[in-house]
Amino acid sequence: MMKVQHVCVLGSTGSIGENTLDVISRHRETISIYALSAFSRIERLAEQARETGAKVVIVPTDAARVRFLQAWAGPTAVPEIRVGQQALADTAAEAPVTTVMAAIVGAAGLPAALAAARSGKRVLLANKEALVAAGGLFMQAVRDSGAELLPIDSEHNAIFQCMPQTGRATAPTTPAKGVRRLLLTASGGPFRTTALDQLAAVTPDQACAHPNWSMGRKISVDSATMLNKGLEVIEAHWLFAMPVSQIQVVIHPQSMVHSMVEYEDGSILAQLGQPDMRTPIAYGLGFPERIDSGVGLLALTALGRLDFEEPDFERFPCLRLSFEALGTSQAACVALNAANEIAVDCFLKQQIRYTEIARVIESCLDRISGMPASDLDTLDDVLALDAHTRRIASELCLLQRL
Ligand code: NAD
Ligand code: MG
Repeated sequence: MMKVQHVCVLGSTGSIGENTLDVISRHRETISIYALSAFSRIERLAEQARETGAKVVIVPTDAARVRFLQAWAGPTAVPEIRVGQQALADTAAEAPVTTVMAAIVGAAGLPAALAAARSGKRVLLANKEALVAAGGLFMQAVRDSGAELLPIDSEHNAIFQCMPQTGRATAPTTPAKGVRRLLLTASGGPFRTTALDQLAAVTPDQACAHPNWSMGRKISVDSATMLNKGLEVIEAHWLFAMPVSQIQVVIHPQSMVHSMVEYEDGSILAQLGQPDMRTPIAYGLGFPERIDSGVGLLALTALGRLDFEEPDFERFPCLRLSFEALGTSQAACVALNAANEIAVDCFLKQQIRYTEIARVIESCLDRISGMPASDLDTLDDVLALDAHTRRIASELCLLQRL
């Protein structure tokens, strides 16, 4: 029988956050919500807090706190409202919390995800940017505290499920025995077959119209450029202690095979399912048991076929840049992620073109490659380089705009 979990959902108003609350609503006897957080959509946060009976909510500013109180209205007691970044990390580490869903988007989610890892919680990690920026620190924190790290990103969740069951470590330091390669599947996004000369003119709405998955806008653009897959290669490197040479990306347009593990004996194990994040979320919440996620069955005969293709680095330069960053240094990975966050934000605001996202990232990587090497062995080191790269990327975006 599963013991009762008290969950802190960081980023509860986002796509992963909403899916998490949906799964938890099916298991009220064993899973309760302790805390919720949002950066915007404060009215939605108030609704969520009312529906789940959350004891704590975390909002970014005092103005958001006032909005929360205005939105609350009604006879039931208001949850405790905490304000600011530090409150996210403090709440994630608090004693009543057993489980933290790290579903804030971007490196902004790193300090709280790391706090959850340091305090030995069950960490359901959706926030891949945390591992890209600080994989070494993060995995060491998991090992030191004995935290239980369960990947929620669908590919990594699939790989976790396909890993050898014997001797499976939550934060390994060497590749699992007998594993030859990790095969990360990628849908190829909305522009997999678009003529290359049309890419410069694509709009944010076109980039966000993912063929198979419904996600937040930042990760949707990342999926279109395949920078998302690049971040996932780096994420897989850290989660499974796998060298970059043993990680392969395979385009699979149907998004039904969520990833695969190839073994020395020639076996390939795959995890299949509907493209619905509630499956990996339920896996993380229920682990080691399987619990209902609300996801329907995969009708294999209706699907008929599964296709696989090589990714094209000319079409997806961001994927190439990610492999290069992972092969270069931790600093390059921090810069890759930070530059991308700024470039995507500018693209979504229509300040730069889609094709300029890769150019901004490449220029930032060039600019930081001349910097003195830093060990990046503290959170402050990582955040300083992240902030530095964001400044460079913002300037570049402004220049492109002219
Ligand atoms: P989203 O944009 O839908 O939601 C992001 C959440 O984070 C919201 O609750 C928002 O209020 C909060 N947030 C945004 N900026 C913040 C800040 N600066 N400080 C604190 N909170 C902030 O994003 P999403 O699609 O749910 O993705 C969340 C994370 O999960 C990302 O790291 C993404 O890469 C990862 N992920 C998402 C999916 C998916 O299907 N959506 C799949 C795999 C991995
Ligand atoms: Mg993914």
